[in-house]
Amino acid sequence: MIFQEYDVIIVGSGVSGLYAALNLDSNMKILMLSKRELTLCNSALAQGGVAAVIDDKNDNYELHIKDTLIAGGYKNDINNLRILVEQGPKDVKNLLNYGVEFDRKEDGSIHLTLEGGHCRHRIAHHKDSTGYEIVTSLIENVKKLPNVTILENSQLLGLEKSGEYFLTDVLHNDNHSYYTTKAVVLATGGIGRVYDFTTNSAIATGDGIQFAYNLGAEIKHLSYVQFHPTAFADKKNRECFLVSEAVRGEGAYLLNCHKQRFMDKYEPERKELAPRDVVSKCILQEQKATGSDEFFLDISYKDPEFIKNRFPMIYKKVLEKGYDMTKEPIPIYPCQHYLMGGIGVNGNGATTVKGLYAAGECAHTGVHGINRLASNSLLEALVFSRLIAEDINKNYPHKELSEKEFDYPTPEGEPLPQGIRTEIRHIMQRSYFVVPDYKEAAKDIERVKQLKDQLYNTKYAITPDYIEAKSLTTVAYIILSEVVAEGKEKGEI
Ligand SMILES: Cc1cc2nc3c(=O)[nH]c(=O)nc-3n(C[C@H](O)[C@H](O)[C@H](O)COP(=O)(O)OP(=O)(O)OC[C@H]3O[C@@H](n4cnc5c(N)ncnc54)[C@H](O)[C@@H]3O)c2cc1C
Repeated sequence: MIFQEYDVIIVGSGVSGLYAALNLDSNMKILMLSKRELTLCNSALAQGGVAAVIDDKNDNYELHIKDTLIAGGYKNDINNLRILVEQGPKDVKNLLNYGVEFDRKEDGSIHLTLEGGHCRHRIAHHKDSTGYEIVTSLIENVKKLPNVTILENSQLLGLEKSGEYFLTDVLHNDNHSYYTTKAVVLATGGIGRVYDFTTNSAIATGDGIQFAYNLGAEIKHLSYVQFHPTAFADKKNRECFLVSEAVRGEGAYLLNCHKQRFMDKYEPERKELAPRDVVSKCILQEQKATGSDEFFLDISYKDPEFIKNRFPMIYKKVLEKGYDMTKEPIPIYPCQHYLMGGIGVNGNGATTVKGLYAAGECAHTGVHGINRLASNSLLEALVFSRLIAEDINKNYPHKELSEKEFDYPTPEGEPLPQGIRTEIRHIMQRSYFVVPDYKEAAKDIERVKQLKDQLYNTKYAITPDYIEAKSLTTVAYIILSEVVAEGKEKGEI
């Protein structure tokens, strides 16, 4: 099989992939893959904003680090956290050079808002659609780079290594194309689609994690999954619309089925502003107390004009669902939101496989500990993808590129049986939602292992459905293995 060579292949067009491309040397020949359209990614869904110490009169690095450690249960990697917090402001300000518009105060300075778990106003935002603003601005800039080839609607279906070369199989316009490189950046995002209900976009199937795992890269803490407490409660749609943390940051109350506040029972000091994992657990405790899974978020006591102006996108979306948040509480419930674990990387984003890097949500830098502090993820995507680019510029400089021949399996094979992905989603939803059900997980892992063996040992046709089924099953298997080990350690199994 003939493979076309690139200096670097970036898998993903979210904030991590785009910002890596912008920071690689301009003489590098780069291939960027995007599974679906360029803006279909978790980055574009980010509402709240990006956290950084920008107001150094009222804020400082130590406070940002402390807030992140508290949210992360002090399980954070302190060295990488320091890199994140101390280098982050430079990257956030650099976004202005790419045309990103943050909301401004009357004096022209960046308007910084507050979110759960932060002790200072430090979230730069573009109304309530910060991610879309950043992604679209960065896309415009990457499109101007003559050295970057962007392949939209192009899914990575295979990643193997032969000597120092990575071999990739990419499905583009229904055709398999083959590319090779010495440096790959996996920027493939989260794993939300391994659950029945998630805030994540359709691309979040953990493909990068599966490829890295099968190349022998270290995978770390995949069971560190975050469940956001305030997704719009719409049990009909798999992709749940997020009602941003910033709504609580601006003073919204959480109400139970009797439309009564309840957070002071469980978190008397921080109340609604406790970190996400704490609030999600409080909601489940209150559900046990009332026997009802009906919960609401209420900001209707605030000036309607303020709400419409501060949260235009959320206001519109919720109105489409039949609720006017300026007048009434809106129904919410926790759902899967973010992955703190991932492909293990060092401070330069390098994995344990030479030449393989991982950035953003698919990577585990350890900065978040067991629970991510709101708005630290876009920051992580920016800082560590720039560090990856700097490492590649140094260690994999541009060289003469040529076509190369390697042996590679053909894509033909048996059709994939229906229903594997749905079964995996149901398993994960019942075994590990907010808090793990150790006994259930111990039973379910046997079935997941069976499905994994079937997917790995049968010669199925290499299609997007097969790769996604393999990714979901691999991710579920690793998560449940960690959950079961924890259950045994605690003596619960
Ligand atoms: C609703 C929502 C709100 C959020 N709000 C915030 C917020 O306010 N602040 C904050 O800091 N964080 C927020 N987050 C988290 C944050 O947006 C993400 O963690 C971060 O943007 C991830 O960026 P990424 O580049 O790693 O991945 P993504 O942006 O998800 O990009 C992944 C890319 O990988 C590509 N890809 C995946 N698999 C393949 C494959 N096999 N072949 C080719 N391409 C592939 C996809 O097409 C996509 O382009 C939010 C997340 C969600 C879901």
